[in-house]
Amino acid sequence: MTIIPDLDVGPRTLRFMPDALKAGLDPYMAQYVGYRKSGLSLNHIIGCPLDCGYCVRHFWGNFDVKQPQLLVPTEQAIEDLIGHEAFQPHITPIQVFNKATDPFLPGVKPHLFQVLNSLDARGYTNHVLIITRFKVTADDMATLERLHHLRVTLLFTYSGITDPRIEPIAKTATTVTSIRTAAQHRQRTGVILYWRPITPGWNDDDQTMAHVLDIGRDVDAVVFTGLYHKAENAAYLQEQGVTVPYGEDEFHRRKTMPDDLDARVVAAWRTSGITTPLFRKTSCGVAYAHQAPDYNGHWGVREICDICPLDQQQRCADAHRQPTGQDMREVLDRFGYDSDFLIEDGHVWTHGLGEQRRYALQHTLQFQIWELDQPHFLHAHGRSLTGHGTPEDQADAFDQVRARFAHAARFNDE
Ligand code: SF4
Repeated sequence: MTIIPDLDVGPRTLRFMPDALKAGLDPYMAQYVGYRKSGLSLNHIIGCPLDCGYCVRHFWGNFDVKQPQLLVPTEQAIEDLIGHEAFQPHITPIQVFNKATDPFLPGVKPHLFQVLNSLDARGYTNHVLIITRFKVTADDMATLERLHHLRVTLLFTYSGITDPRIEPIAKTATTVTSIRTAAQHRQRTGVILYWRPITPGWNDDDQTMAHVLDIGRDVDAVVFTGLYHKAENAAYLQEQGVTVPYGEDEFHRRKTMPDDLDARVVAAWRTSGITTPLFRKTSCGVAYAHQAPDYNGHWGVREICDICPLDQQQRCADAHRQPTGQDMREVLDRFGYDSDFLIEDGHVWTHGLGEQRRYALQHTLQFQIWELDQPHFLHAHGRSLTGHGTPEDQADAFDQVRARFAHAARFNDE
């Protein structure tokens, strides 16, 4: 058994969260089934002792909850997941325990396997994404490999950061050992090295990049991304004495990955000599691991695809179908959603749906569904604008989109 120094891993048996603590949860944390870009997400266990400095739980005032605790029994959580308005058997990508805990903590893992076994027993073939940095054993892999239907992908967050104030688990070899174990024992399970958060000054030197890429030598795909730079985690990191390389005027709802850093990551991958494909988008790596087209329709944002293997590009090209106005009206009606829309090459503009509804449409149509009030910038798809400049003509381009949208909205009902 691996000895993990100075690392609390939580209890083996979970208790239910006391009502008083539950009542104080941010509504976003309390909502344990919710739709996100990578899929419909189940998070009925909250609490994590791993203390990653950049943890997203800082955003919802939940970082101090160290012990994983159940909000509801797992049987009920499964029913709520498959009873969600947007859940579709075989279509909706699912994420389990990706927001508020680590799925392979000793007390959490039995619940993870209960969810997977229950969904698999129903014959569902949906993608299931499991993000971890914790210990995955050969026995765990055997459990995953016994599933018959679900397309499961393990995404191992591994950054190469060695500063224990940012990445306490780096004191151990836990994540690297897990990646090697998973890669060695996988047959039908996808295994991804989730290289994040790549952050200037923390882990962007040549040696660290080469090391991370070497760890990814035997997995199905490497997916890279940047830091969520927000006030809450920046404040925590600064309290720990960590230098945060982005400023207060650069806080953003999207992750930060400047152009030059993207280019250096791609160059490091090219010089590394590894044959593992590199992806900018989570869903692209997951899809590739199962030899399927990207379920987020990123083929519509072709600039993302320049590093993608040619056979995968062909898969995405073959699956890419621009919806018609009739398709859009049908899918909006099916879910009971309401939005005007404008269909363009590679994406559909909508307005006011909110992320959860928008992504449900995107995964159903496998086509990019965009929000008029949160436009993607050229060469910065899904990223904050830090390090991308803001060409003046983009502002003009968005004015033109709004004008076309207003015009289209008048005719969509005809
Ligand atoms: S071709 Fe493009 S959209 Fe498809 S998986 Fe590759 S990068 Fe993603």
